[in-house]
Amino acid sequence: MKFCNKLLAVLLLLMLVACSSGKPHGGSRPLVVVTTGVIADIVEHIGGDFVEIKTLIVAGSDPHSYKANENDVIDIARAMVTFYNGLQLEGAFGHIIERASSTIPVYAVCEYIPSNKLIEVKKGVYDPHVWLDPQLWILAVNRVADGLVETDPANAVYYRRNEDAYIEQIIAVNDSIKSRLDTVPPEKRVIVSAHNAFSMSM
Ligand SMILES: [Zn+2]
Repeated sequence: MKFCNKLLAVLLLLMLVACSSGKPHGGSRPLVVVTTGVIADIVEHIGGDFVEIKTLIVAGSDPHSYKANENDVIDIARAMVTFYNGLQLEGAFGHIIERASSTIPVYAVCEYIPSNKLIEVKKGVYDPHVWLDPQLWILAVNRVADGLVETDPANAVYYRRNEDAYIEQIIAVNDSIKSRLDTVPPEKRVIVSAHNAFSMSM
């Protein structure tokens, strides 16, 4: 059995024995599992003190080549909801998560972004580094907020208020960066990057 299939089998087994809603016992905060730090940032701003966040791909790890382990699928199976980037950012791990989405609450944060707003790097494959474009990332914030509201409707008002406030913050930061960049003559604009991930914002 291939490793991916083995992880999927573990996930399916856990789903069978886990509580259906993933809601915590004993009044602890519901677990929200995310793949990357940028998604954790959204959940922190919208979920606030109401949720516990577990980031699977920690800072310093490469999401493109991340190898999932059994603890990751255990976390996903016991979570109230899981958010991943999608657009193949998480490589093979993304496929495992995608396949779980038919039975447990799992959402790709890039789901709301129309493909004509993305950069097609080759036929049917899009640049997944969407958080580098604040306008598009707002749609990811919408997707996370909707996912939290769908899985925890009792706290919908709280999540919606935080969603609005966070989007305002993103717009303010975007405007401030734009006005600073405007002071740099176009011929002097040089970006140094360790990773070819900046096509979204150029
Ligand atoms: Zn990358």
